[in-house]
Amino acid sequence: MDSLYNGEFSFSNNTSKQDFELLTKALDASLSGIIITDNRQPDNPIIYCNKAFEDITGYHRSEIIGHNCRFLQKDDRDQTARHTLRDAIDNGTNAVVDIRNYKKDGTLFWNELYMSPIKDGDNQVNYFIGVQNDVSRRKKAEDEVKSNHAKMEQRIQERTKDLRENEEYLASIVQTVRESLIVLSPDLKVLSVNDHFINTFKVTREETEGKKLYDLGNGQWNIPELQELLEQILPTNNPVTDFEVAHDFPHIGKKLMLLNAHRIELEGQYKDRILIAIEDITDRRAIEQRKDDFLSIASHELKTPLTTIKGYVQIINRLIKNYDDEKLRESVGKTSLYVERLNNLIGELLDVSRIQSGMIELHKAPFDFDRMINETVASIQHGSGTHEIIITGQTGVQFNGDESHITQVVTNLLSNAIKYSPDHKKIGVHLSVLSGFIKVAVTDHGVGIAKDEQAKVFDRFYRVRDVQQKFPGMGIGLFICASIVSNHNGTLWVESEPGKGSTFSFTLPLTSNYPSKNGGDNGR
Ligand code: ADP
Repeated sequence: MDSLYNGEFSFSNNTSKQDFELLTKALDASLSGIIITDNRQPDNPIIYCNKAFEDITGYHRSEIIGHNCRFLQKDDRDQTARHTLRDAIDNGTNAVVDIRNYKKDGTLFWNELYMSPIKDGDNQVNYFIGVQNDVSRRKKAEDEVKSNHAKMEQRIQERTKDLRENEEYLASIVQTVRESLIVLSPDLKVLSVNDHFINTFKVTREETEGKKLYDLGNGQWNIPELQELLEQILPTNNPVTDFEVAHDFPHIGKKLMLLNAHRIELEGQYKDRILIAIEDITDRRAIEQRKDDFLSIASHELKTPLTTIKGYVQIINRLIKNYDDEKLRESVGKTSLYVERLNNLIGELLDVSRIQSGMIELHKAPFDFDRMINETVASIQHGSGTHEIIITGQTGVQFNGDESHITQVVTNLLSNAIKYSPDHKKIGVHLSVLSGFIKVAVTDHGVGIAKDEQAKVFDRFYRVRDVQQKFPGMGIGLFICASIVSNHNGTLWVESEPGKGSTFSFTLPLTSNYPSKNGGDNGR
């Protein structure tokens, strides 16, 4: 009773003492802070507070009763919630606000306040009752949600900006590249093309975009083989590489186009889009052709006078046998040696142009493989006083192939082995027959070849940069070897370590037509 009755405050006479105590207990038991203010007295002082209110605010009831509620706001007066309360008090109406209040120790708490007027029979507002809850936690959570939302919004904006920049960046690359680009949908319709495409094919975007690839121009891309490859890109992820299209295109005439197509991949994710890059290689191919033609003509032209010189040198060689002049004989001997070298070089150049034009002729006949190897090694050994060539193993095979071509391969590999191992004198030639193949391995312990150069040494005119200055050569020997071996359906490869040496090996498949000369194992 004490807690509620404060001298000035009492309920109407109708309220029984028991009812009154019950109400007081109920209010005191509430978890919400409850206060009652007396509107009839100056400055609307608090005349009742319950226990929860003391707990929420940290004030003792002796510091609460008699005060106006504003002490809870301390100096934080400029709040919209306060104006709402003020209006409600002036008008005698209800109000619900979230207001910033401060505990006795100064800590801020968010007070969710329900305020209602209590009116008498004349509709006069005598009291206000305020029910409050500390909703700081909820407020904090709401604030966090708001701030997360704001952060997210900001991140989305940044990301959108990045994407837009990336898009512009990509678009500028797409427009700058000197290749025609087409993006296709899964049903091979043109989604977009770059400016280079428009300019190269002298077409408009309208007559290109949205059309099926095969309907473009005069059907230049409607090639069954290409169609098959393109249709496999999305299901298999296999790209189309270096597909050549020679065609009489509308507006631009006869051109040779090189086409590469890939499934578009972004950040490791494949998209259902195909990117085609088209390069006009008409001029490049024409220049290459002219170079090849020049090579072929030049070597033919050189060969003719050289053959005549060779003939005369042979005559001179025969004539000087009768002369007893050592110096003259030595000079003529050297001349015939260099004429022979020149003859071989020109012969190699001619071979290259024949390979290029596919004009190489094979004269296949069975021959004794081991004899051929022995004779070739003997002839090279004869010409090289510096190196020792050791043959191990044997094939025992009558091989059906072009003997002069295979001799050329072995000669080339041995000459290289000698040339590229000036400081190591031993060269090995190992012969074997392995499940249907003859294998020849030529090993030296010379300069070796770096890993990334190994595949390239078989390319036409390729020479390893480090050796270019030190050793003479044209970079065509291995190219010829590889094509001769491949013409016999064999393979040629190298294993090498820089500074340690190289092993060039080739295998040739045996045919069942020619049995081993001694009936031994020839691998069949
Ligand atoms: P060439 O010897 O006339 O340059 P090749 O086609 O025979 O031409 O060889 C191509 C290149 O391969 C050589 O320039 C050389 O760099 C490298 N090469 C070939 N054989 C060997 C070898 N036995 N050891 C090291 N490098 C070699």
